[in-house]
Amino acid sequence: MNDAEKGQLQAAIVPVTPFQQNCLLLWDSVSKRGAVFDPGGDVEAIVDAIAQTGIKVEAIYLTHGHIDHAGGAEELKAALGVEIIGPHKADKPLLQGIEKQAQMFGVAGGYRNAAPDRWLDEGDSVDIAGHKFEIFHCPGHAPGHVVFFNREARFAHVGDVLFNGSVGRTDLPGGDHAALIASITNKLLPLGDDVSFICGHGPGSTFGRERATNPFLNGAG
Ligand SMILES: [Zn+2]
Ligand SMILES: [Zn+2]
Repeated sequence: MNDAEKGQLQAAIVPVTPFQQNCLLLWDSVSKRGAVFDPGGDVEAIVDAIAQTGIKVEAIYLTHGHIDHAGGAEELKAALGVEIIGPHKADKPLLQGIEKQAQMFGVAGGYRNAAPDRWLDEGDSVDIAGHKFEIFHCPGHAPGHVVFFNREARFAHVGDVLFNGSVGRTDLPGGDHAALIASITNKLLPLGDDVSFICGHGPGSTFGRERATNPFLNGAG
């Protein structure tokens, strides 16, 4: 696509599942082409939001394999006829165990195991309507967690790695607190204090604000 057709990235959040997970719609303001990140469930609400924005969804991306992020991916794929891309293949066991996660958390709602069409890895990049997103493999909250970064717009989707005032929990299977803090301090914070992010739960923030005030980072980086 040429630059004349390229506009700004626009975002909308659809809170899904009993975990109030931030399902993210991301699209280009001019072409209206875009993607859905982390359709954890409540797929009807996601399909409604897509219709309201009038965007054409070209892919489904997953940050990691937890039920609240990936539990509706196969249903949305069937509804839209697009591929599921990501996370890192280290989350394959989690994605194959989504129905078990539903039992473990005691939630009902048609959650299905997910089988991505393509895995992502450190150093990969994906193109969303002409906007390049670099992929960072950030284990700790989940072994195969990936973060999406758009250098031009200074924007990242960090999933459950980092939150406004907190970090991802590491008490679930495959969790590793030291690895999580290393992912944040070695891979995310160096991208720059001015980078704003959306996360999997609650309001977003900037890397600079979290570097300065997040009690779990404590002067890191
Ligand atoms: Zn998670
Ligand atoms: Zn989550």
